[in-house]
Formats: sequence, structure tokens, C-alpha cells
Amino acid sequence: MIPILSPFLAFCLVLQNPTAAGKGTVLSPAVETALREIDLHRLQAAVAFLASDELEGRDTPSRGLRVAEAYVAARMGAAGLKGMGPGGSFYLETRRGSWKLPREGLVCREVSGPGLPQIGLLDAGEKPFTFRGKLDEQAREAGLRILRAPPTDDLPAAFRGSPFTAGILLRRLRGAAGNARAVICRTPRNHPFVRMAKLLSSRFQMEGGRRTPPALPILLVPDEVELPPVLDLRIPARLRRETVLRNVCGLLEGRDPERKREALVLSAHLDHIGLGTDPKDPIRNGADDDASGVTAVLSLADAFSALPERPRRSLIFVTFWGEEKGLLGSRAFVEDPPWPLERIVADLNLEMLGRPEKGARFQAWMTGWRRSDLGKILAEGAAGIGVRIFEHPRYSSRLFGASDNASFVAKGVLGHSLSAGSLHEDYHGPGDEWTKLDLPHMTKVCQGIFLGVLRIVEDLETPRKR
Ligand SMILES: [Zn+2]
Repeated sequence: MIPILSPFLAFCLVLQNPTAAGKGTVLSPAVETALREIDLHRLQAAVAFLASDELEGRDTPSRGLRVAEAYVAARMGAAGLKGMGPGGSFYLETRRGSWKLPREGLVCREVSGPGLPQIGLLDAGEKPFTFRGKLDEQAREAGLRILRAPPTDDLPAAFRGSPFTAGILLRRLRGAAGNARAVICRTPRNHPFVRMAKLLSSRFQMEGGRRTPPALPILLVPDEVELPPVLDLRIPARLRRETVLRNVCGLLEGRDPERKREALVLSAHLDHIGLGTDPKDPIRNGADDDASGVTAVLSLADAFSALPERPRRSLIFVTFWGEEKGLLGSRAFVEDPPWPLERIVADLNLEMLGRPEKGARFQAWMTGWRRSDLGKILAEGAAGIGVRIFEHPRYSSRLFGASDNASFVAKGVLGHSLSAGSLHEDYHGPGDEWTKLDLPHMTKVCQGIFLGVLRIVEDLETPRKR
């Protein structure tokens, strides 16, 4: 039988036919009440909002992400959680630098002549770059190089509009630039650089993210424009500002005077990759990745709060910024934790729950399966409602370090991610829309997670490292 029973829930949680594991499980009225909070229509409302075009793909940093944070905080408050930030706020703040390309102050013309037609800047330096002289030896000595935009014909056609394509081409250009101090890049008007330039001048970018190359002034000039023999060039520096980033974090305190000192963390990343350069649909909505996980965290908060008595152990619900920039928000969380790390039983991170693989509805797989027995505990609980939690033969070990659980693991805390799909064709693309989610599947998987987690926080099953 599945030992979901605990002394506390015994009065209400009845197992019929205890010999048939999972089958014939009748959930107690208390658990039924809690599970009803995990409701398809309420899940839909949350995920449809978080993945709406209005939030513009929740880039870090962006206004869309800030609005999403406010929504998560409001929902945590409504679930009766206690804010874990200063003064009971739900926000754990981090300050970081961010930058944007300048839109003004650019000069590119023949000395004392009119300005040349330009497309714009693809990057700018930490300091302004100025050059006035002949475009020959003099330019070379000043570190100014004239290059052609890298061709796109060796890239798959489907990728040509994606931000990654522009990123790959930019790396190629930087490679060709060597130790140049500034670059004039001759660019066809339909090159991916043109859209990228627009994007970078309209939005602030995080500093210190993964794969951030050093700043380099790069001016795009249409390749049909003839450069004059003597040039007056002034490229202003990057604009900077400080950005406040917010993990959103709430506590459901356990009821057992001793065990409430121990907490299980349920986490998901709130950010996504923002806008791409595809003119037809630039918004990377990130419905499955990871509005689905955030929605699950919120509905689990509702469900655990709806139990007539709080579970014995504490539960921490948190959403992170900057996962897509290199797990930055979760790193900030473990560097300055609002709860002692040694009293975190485990981090269960929820990632991409809404699009099951073919033939795998009502199932979810856990990363790093063999590193602890958390998967086994969750699986036993989830089976009570017919949800299968398992080790994915391809992804469980491969993706163990690919999400926010890795920040906990790096600090010696047990951490795993739970996922219900695979890296589908809309992953990080404009097609990751909420209308493509399998909501009945997602709802049921959340209910399964609830029953699995209940075993840890109520039945005091303690996952151990292997
Ligand atoms: Zn993700």
C-alpha cells in the first residue's frame, strides 16, 4: 500500500483496498479539498497571463518580468504565505548593472560633410570612441577596422530570424575584429544584425550574464554606401543603470514545533528570453518554459494552504529571475538565503510541465534521478492519483545541471528538477504559447506533485543523497 497516511491525516485520509498499490486509493476529504485548489481553469488563468504578449517574454531585466513578479507576490499573499523578504515583503532584491545602446550622440560623416546613411549601432564601448582621419593607415593605427557582416547562408533557414543566429554572427564578427578598438560593419539591409541593433537600443541588457563578450563599438553602415576617404566618427558609450531584480518568495510555516524548522523548497523560474528578432512574432512567450512551472508553484501554494492544518514541515515557494542568463536568480538566492541552507530538506524545481511527450500524458520525470531517493518518494505519492514520476532515459542525467536546482546542489543542498516534456520544437521560440499546453495533463501532474510533496512535509519521509 501507499503509506500516504500520517497520524494527523488519518482521520480523514482513508485507504480502501490497501493491498492494491495506488489503485483504489480514496483520498481524504482534507486532501480532496486541497486538490480541488489545483483546478484546470485557475491554472489556465495564471499561465495565460504569465505567457501573454503583454509581458513580452519576461526577459531579465524588463518591465514584463516586473509585472510578472507583482502577480506572483499577489498570488502568494492571497494563498496566505508569509513574505520572506525584508519587513515581510515577498521580494528578495538584488541590485545589478545593466546596459543599453545609446540612441543619441552618434556622428559618422565626411569631415565637415553631411552624415552618412547608417543603420545604427550593434554595440558600443565602455567609453566613447572617436576617430577623425583618413580611412587608411591612420584608421588602422587608431584600431578602427572595416569588416563585412558575416554571411548567413551556411545557417539553417529556420534559424535565420532567431536571436541566437544574430548572436552566432556577432561572435563571428568579433572573431574577425581581433583586437580592434572599433568596427565599421558593412551590412546588407536584410541582415539579422539590423533587427538585433534595434532590439539592443530599445531594451536594457543584464551585465555579467553567461557568454557576455567585452563591449566593442560596432557601427552598421549599409554595404551599398560608399565610405569617404576622410571620416569623422564618434560612437558614444553604452548607457548604464542599476537594475533591481527580485526573487519572489513566500513561506508556509509548518505546524510541528520541531519539524517546522525544516523546509522543502518548491521553485520555478519566472524569467524567459524576452523578444527575438523575428518580425512576424518577436515575443518569446515562454508558456511551457517556465510559466507552467511558476503556475504549478502557485497552485501548490494554494493547495497546501487549503489543508485544514498546515503540514508538519515548512514549505518555501519561490520564483527566480535570470535563469535564462545562467541561473543567476537562484544563485543569488543560495548566496544570501532567507532560510538556513542546512535546514532545507530539498529543492524541487518545476520546469516545463505543460507539454508531454507523445504517449506520456500524466507523467513527469526528474533530473538527477540516481543522486537521491527524492524521485522514489514523489513517485509513490503521485501514484495515488495516477501520475507517474520516473527517470527519463535521455534527459534525467543530461539536464541535471541545466536548471535552478543546480544552484542548490552547488551549495550541498539536495536539488532536482521535475519536467513533463522534452525540448520540443517551440522551445525558446515564438511558438511556446499557452494555447499549446495540455492543461488537463498539467493539472493532474500538479496534483501528483502535491501528493508526492505531502509525503515529505507531512509524513516526514526524508529524501537522502545516494
Ligand atoms: Zn526553463
